[in-house]
Amino acid sequence: MTPDDAAAPRNFIHQIIDEDRAAGRWGGRVHTRFPPEPNGYLHIGHAKSICLNHGLAEQYDGRFNLRFDDTNPVKEEQEYVDSIIDDVRWLGARWVGQREDDRTAGVLFSADYFQRMYDLAVLLIRKGKAYVCDLSGEEVAAHRGTLTRPGRESPNRGRSVEENLDLFERMRRGEFPDGSRTLRARIDMAHPNLNLRDPVMYRILHATHHRAGDAWCVFPMYDWAHGLEDSIEGITHSICTLEFENHRPLYDWFIDALNEGNPDPIHHPRQIEFARLELTHTVMSKRKLLELVRGGHVRGWDDPRMPTLCGLRRRGYTPEAIRRFCADIGVAKFNSVIDLVRLENALRDDLNRRAPRRMAVLRPLKVVIENYPEGKTEELDAVNNPEDPAAGTRRVPFSRVLYLERDDFREDPPKGFFRLAPGREVRLRWAYFITCTGVERDAAGEVVEVRCTYDPPTRGGDAPDGRKVKATLHWVSAAHAIDAEVRLYDHLFAVPRPEDVPEGVDYKSNLNPRSLEVLTGCKLEPSLATAAVRRDRFGIVDPDRFQFERLGYFCVDPDARPGGPVFNRTVSLKDTWAKVAAKP
Ligand code: ATP
Ligand code: MG
Repeated sequence: MTPDDAAAPRNFIHQIIDEDRAAGRWGGRVHTRFPPEPNGYLHIGHAKSICLNHGLAEQYDGRFNLRFDDTNPVKEEQEYVDSIIDDVRWLGARWVGQREDDRTAGVLFSADYFQRMYDLAVLLIRKGKAYVCDLSGEEVAAHRGTLTRPGRESPNRGRSVEENLDLFERMRRGEFPDGSRTLRARIDMAHPNLNLRDPVMYRILHATHHRAGDAWCVFPMYDWAHGLEDSIEGITHSICTLEFENHRPLYDWFIDALNEGNPDPIHHPRQIEFARLELTHTVMSKRKLLELVRGGHVRGWDDPRMPTLCGLRRRGYTPEAIRRFCADIGVAKFNSVIDLVRLENALRDDLNRRAPRRMAVLRPLKVVIENYPEGKTEELDAVNNPEDPAAGTRRVPFSRVLYLERDDFREDPPKGFFRLAPGREVRLRWAYFITCTGVERDAAGEVVEVRCTYDPPTRGGDAPDGRKVKATLHWVSAAHAIDAEVRLYDHLFAVPRPEDVPEGVDYKSNLNPRSLEVLTGCKLEPSLATAAVRRDRFGIVDPDRFQFERLGYFCVDPDARPGGPVFNRTVSLKDTWAKVAAKP
């Protein structure tokens, strides 16, 4: 990632790593990983984890692995694997072994460790620390006890090592049906931490795995698998979210149990928990996002309203803005909800610096300049980006018939409305002062055309006599305009905390019915004819992004529509939502 990431404030994880290095642990090495389960698309919460893990590796001159935690054959799919690899690359993270000419180079899969994990489970059985249990899932749960009541021991807890070895081997060979037996750690059924009451290590599942095929019908559970994956890869700091704090004793127990009296101990990483990212006005769990996709509430995983990385990308987010946001919000030990505005502001800062300015009219109103010669066209100079002189200028055609934004004209202007109105003079951006002389109406009395005159000496936007106007409006020459569809987005959920619902109420009832507004017949300045969506060698989209003056930041959408391009509004220029929402 870029050097700006290194400016991220220091957090409690830096402190832990500094202590480890000062103590000479693992020779001062830092090796982190991002371990997604390929059961959905990545979202902005995952971006936080990627930025954190990758950033630490970078700051300490360490290594960063991309590993699929693919131990559950039922919910995992190749489609998700591909999208996750693309998203991590797009975000700018570089994993060990990554190559630009091979999408999967260097990517690691837990499934490739199944044999090694199985062998280590056999070692635990030999040590008398694991046993095959014949209880069903429900029975295991019923035996677990509660926080105030100890659990009950499985009737199979006393099985001999030989019998356990034989049964575990036969579980693996496929002799038993799904759910009929498990391998469990023999720890303590009265342990105050329920996770240590003889947790299940393996379950039987006759299902085809996206990578291992039909080679296995016993699959490791998360707690058993995760520490081993970290250990096998030599991970030093295994960073996960707070829900796993209660699992850390088990993470450590498994590795300690394997290493006890072992002349060839396995590597023991350190688990560290941090607060997961939650954002207002959206949901983040993959299960809920999948539900929105399957239920047709959005147009797909990459719907620009989704908090997924592919959705944000299609919306026009840059990786730099997402990284900046992740750095700005920092890393904490307590959960909190971050206002979506902070993500949007990071994007505005980035796009303000780099997005070329253009003129576009979303809701066109025809304006005729009565004293401008018919058939004449002028090319006026327009600055591409006032924040970036190197972006230069372009020429914008001006002619007798123009489009202005319908909202920028009022026949009866209320107090405080300074834009165009009968008798009033305003400035057209990069062009002339114009004065409204009247309107034309259709049969229904609706204004269909505004008549104006222009003042030729004001060319370029200033009056030689020094007179001032109160408004500068954007415009597009009608004869030169490109037609476009423009999609405006609002929050996916109408309330800040959509999951805060009374019992029995579905969080989906908080979906915002006005989260998408599609405008057709929008008019763009002709230089936007070359705007496009580029794709890199792996097909990752990179849309051209612009600021449409006074309207916000927009990007080209990959959707092809006959008769013109489609643009998405990435974000408005300012955060107006709070104000609008506050109105009765
Ligand atoms: P979800 O709850 O959205 O389904 P998950 O935790 O099941 O997410 P994984 O694929 O297991 O998804 O996550 C991969 C990594 O991303 C894990 O290390 C996890 O801790 C981290 N992660 C997931 N969600 C967030 C979040 N909201 N904020 C920070 N890190 C997250
Ligand atoms: Mg998970």
